[in-house]
Amino acid sequence: MAARIDHAVTSGTFSLDGQTFDVDNNVWVVGDDDECVVIDAPHDADAIRAVVGDRRLKAILCTHAHDDHVRVAPALREATGAPILLHPDDKPVWELTHPDLLWDADLTDGQQVEVAGTTLTVLHTPGHAPGAVCFHAPDLGCVFTGDTLFQGGPGATGRSFSDEDLIKQSIRARLFALPADTVVHTGHGDDTTIGAEAAALG
Ligand SMILES: [Zn+2]
Repeated sequence: MAARIDHAVTSGTFSLDGQTFDVDNNVWVVGDDDECVVIDAPHDADAIRAVVGDRRLKAILCTHAHDDHVRVAPALREATGAPILLHPDDKPVWELTHPDLLWDADLTDGQQVEVAGTTLTVLHTPGHAPGAVCFHAPDLGCVFTGDTLFQGGPGATGRSFSDEDLIKQSIRARLFALPADTVVHTGHGDDTTIGAEAAALG
């Protein structure tokens, strides 16, 4: 059975540098009827578990460690036994939200995560956060970009741990190298494509 993508949106807050904002976050679940992985764990573990259903959750993959992406990762781990995977360069960001907890395994550039007969390749794309990663699924014709690339351009770089030049460098070198018709599933808001964003950013 081929892997498929399921999706939920959760609502809550994002806090950094002493400010708090209301945000809606995308949760992406890649798998088949037997097993799956979750990409990001914002706000509401029950909402995420509703998408997972009775499938075996193999891993909780974090695109980066802003609190609106990892808030309920430990609760989801507790409930399912699935390990949390994060790029270690996001340790200082993770510690703002979970100072007394750790993730289980590091994500590394080029790493391949296997689920339901398909492969997600980790692309380290620092800039929005130092440990920001994207997950490319060539079989599914898509890439999960977290807050690195949105419909309309690069993710925000105005706050701590961010770097505008670096995010543009990451996007150009790593994401725009993907086929133009690759669908971009983002951390917030609507899908786009690599080709549309490459044309817009120039
Ligand atoms: Zn973020």
